[in-house]
Amino acid sequence: MSRVVKVEPLTTARALRGPFDYRAPEGAVVGTRLVVPFGHRDVPAVVTGLADDSEHDVVDVRKVVEPALPPELVDLAFWIADEYCSTPARALQLMLPPGGARAKTALYAEATDAARDPEVRLTGAQRALLDSLPRFTGGDTAALRRLEGRGLVAIVPRVVRRVPLQVSVGAVRERPRPTVAQQAAIDRLTAAGPGEQLLLHGVTGSGKTEVYLQAAERTLAAGRSVLVLVPEIGLTPQIVARFAERFGDTVAVLHSQLSAGERLDEWMRLHRGEARVCVGPRSAVFAPLRDLGLVIVDEEHDSSYKHEGDPRYDARGVAAQRAAAAGAVLVVGSATPRPESINAIPRLQLAERVDGQGMPPVRIVDMRSAPNALHPDTHAALMGARKAIVLLNRRGWSNFLNCQTCGHAWECPQCDVTLVLHAAQREMACHHCGHREPVPRRCPTCGGVSIARHGTGTERLADDLAQAGVPVFRLDADVGRGAQVLAAFGRAERGILVGTQMVAKGHDFPDVDLGVVVDADSTLRFPDFRAEERTFALVTQLAGRAGRGHAGGRVLVQTLDPEAESLRFAAQHDSDGFLRAELGRRRALRYPPFATLIRVVCGAEAPGAALRTATTIATGLREGEPDSGAGAQILGPARLFRLRGRERAQLVVKASDRTAAIALVRGVVDGVAGGREHRGVALSVDVDPQ
Ligand code: ADP
Ligand code: ZN
Repeated sequence: MSRVVKVEPLTTARALRGPFDYRAPEGAVVGTRLVVPFGHRDVPAVVTGLADDSEHDVVDVRKVVEPALPPELVDLAFWIADEYCSTPARALQLMLPPGGARAKTALYAEATDAARDPEVRLTGAQRALLDSLPRFTGGDTAALRRLEGRGLVAIVPRVVRRVPLQVSVGAVRERPRPTVAQQAAIDRLTAAGPGEQLLLHGVTGSGKTEVYLQAAERTLAAGRSVLVLVPEIGLTPQIVARFAERFGDTVAVLHSQLSAGERLDEWMRLHRGEARVCVGPRSAVFAPLRDLGLVIVDEEHDSSYKHEGDPRYDARGVAAQRAAAAGAVLVVGSATPRPESINAIPRLQLAERVDGQGMPPVRIVDMRSAPNALHPDTHAALMGARKAIVLLNRRGWSNFLNCQTCGHAWECPQCDVTLVLHAAQREMACHHCGHREPVPRRCPTCGGVSIARHGTGTERLADDLAQAGVPVFRLDADVGRGAQVLAAFGRAERGILVGTQMVAKGHDFPDVDLGVVVDADSTLRFPDFRAEERTFALVTQLAGRAGRGHAGGRVLVQTLDPEAESLRFAAQHDSDGFLRAELGRRRALRYPPFATLIRVVCGAEAPGAALRTATTIATGLREGEPDSGAGAQILGPARLFRLRGRERAQLVVKASDRTAAIALVRGVVDGVAGGREHRGVALSVDVDPQ
């Protein structure tokens, strides 16, 4: 038996790296969770290796914590630390079982053998009570205790499983007969070898989910487990429900809207192997599944797969690594795959909708001479539609207030951005830091009382449309309860669903006959190389929500830039054309997938500190670059807008050798992070920034 455990203490310090050695507790293996004395504190830790002895004096650990992490996840944590320029400790923290909850027990009653004796004398009520067993006791515990006293019932505590899925188990739904294209995809997936990757490129409504389901069925039949990643669970209840209907109790879901208890129970069911399918968002990529055979990433273009805290991992990248390490097949699916995926992964195509309907016609509406948020044609179309989906990627009432007298604009005191008016809450809010203040009555600079409200957000648009007498359903982060809004819209005979990009996610409503994008250039105007890709995806995804039923449908795209290439391709439903053009552009400009980008952001409260540190890092990178083999350009540093009271500065590394570039950045950033003169400066490294 090993006498020493190599341990990673779960601290967040960037400069502090394990492993540290401790005396091995009984039965310790890779993945065993511990509490260890570390410095002057006791900290949680994970065993990452075993050894026979150590160069140091080793001490005892404080305790062993159940359950252990699967060893595959420990390996994955090291990979994440390398790949996303973070530390193993931070990566391991992502993988811990849900905290803050314990297994729940309740009293469970069973009839004993004695109760089966025909001589036993019972009242009718007692007989009925016995017949209702075995089960958890309820309000009848006292009556059951009396029967227990006579030796007729045994009552013991038992673990109660908190069930998050509202699906009647057993109601496993018929599976439809696959179309020819679906069958070909299913067969190809089933025949795929260990570690193989495939891209399922299917237009909206082409039945991708059915392909996933049948591939999953075959994986389960082969005795292996299935991981299914979906963008945001609150917005994609349909895919979760379909997995649960098809596979019943073997499906576990993991997401942040579950209670801590539900999450723990689901995690434990996976850990014990009772559940062999896990469906969840980004964080579910760390589900403790064993014997993984198939990993599915649905809507692979969705930006929610990127995690915005350290480590800034990309769940698509982690999923691919997990699949490769486990010898599982990876399938990523989308109607609008990323240029990165189309470039790297062999493709299976579903070119037609299952119901045989064509894609709806898309008209580009030129807004250059239209004064209001809605063009008169759009307005008329909305009034005539049965059910419409309207996308406006801006929350609130209006996003810019200014004083008509002196021009004063209302800005966040912590961030360099304007405040957004939320009329229902009667407040102004910063969408970056959450700062709130009451709606102003007069200008703080000149005392003027005439205050103009510019720009239209979802709140205002929903209100305008409701004034016109149409039932309106609003879906954005301010409303919450997205699943309920969607369900209500689904049931309605008539109405308009208004919301942010949430409305374009994978819902399937057969009777939507109109789709509208209010401000298609809101994503195009972003100073970001993904602006075209995002715009194309958003318009195409929205178009995919319309015209699924027999009534057909159409789509209107309002824009100030009617010539934009991404919009023209989207209007023609020409995803191949778009991808070709976009890959050409990216190659010419040396953007991913033809280069790796790494972004370093420095943030500090002290004036000038962020830029100073960024300059030091940039100098370090430029000095180290020639010997690094990274083939890197270092862009910046450049100032970013102030956020949460912190000045920020960023630099971007654009490199041809990914591994070398990561090593270069890690070396320089870790050196600076340990330096006194840069204390108080927060550093964040983002490999493949979104
Ligand atoms: P996608 O995810 O590609 O947009 P979905 O998987 O949501 O498409 O499928 C669209 C609709 O078609 C769903 O209502 C689904 O139940 C139905 N469907 C899928 N495959 C078939 C099939 N082979 N036969 C009949 N209906 C199907
Ligand atoms: Zn703010």
